[in-house]
Amino acid sequence: MKALEAEGKIPDAPVETAKTGRTAAGGKVRPKRLTKEEFASLGTPPTGFAWTLTGRPVVELTPKGALKCFECGDEMTLRTGRFGPFYSCNNRKCKAVANLRGEAKKTADEAAGETRSKPIETDMPCPDCGKKMLLRMGRTGRFLGCSGYPACKKTMEPPAGLLREVAETAGV
Ligand SMILES: [Zn+2]
Ligand SMILES: [Zn+2]
Repeated sequence: MKALEAEGKIPDAPVETAKTGRTAAGGKVRPKRLTKEEFASLGTPPTGFAWTLTGRPVVELTPKGALKCFECGDEMTLRTGRFGPFYSCNNRKCKAVANLRGEAKKTADEAAGETRSKPIETDMPCPDCGKKMLLRMGRTGRFLGCSGYPACKKTMEPPAGLLREVAETAGV
């Protein structure tokens, strides 16, 4: 887990599923779009899910009842991570997670209110004062700013891994 944190990956945010999240030795996970043939071979998505272009299950419509985990069949619960809502399996051993898109995402986002525009706390300490850095939304995009602001005005470019998490959770 230390290595992941060094990359700027946040452990409690949605992550690649075991099915598609294979990491090449030493490499970073970079989901690639499936070819038409690969996509066809996925078959029908599990009940309540659709496939993303990279072949991951994603929740597209707000489930009417319980959403069953695509991995183990246990119920999944809607949670709000640092970067927005996602479903995670109630089975602690399973750890499957699914992002939202389309209508399901819109509904969940509205329920979550304005949390999106709020700064997101990271685990990264400020190199100047040691306080935690916050991921903020600026005019030109996301940036890391010190939570000690205005006493500390340190800002930094967010690491690519962190931005990727944000982008994935923001729905593709
Ligand atoms: Zn599960
Ligand atoms: Zn600082």
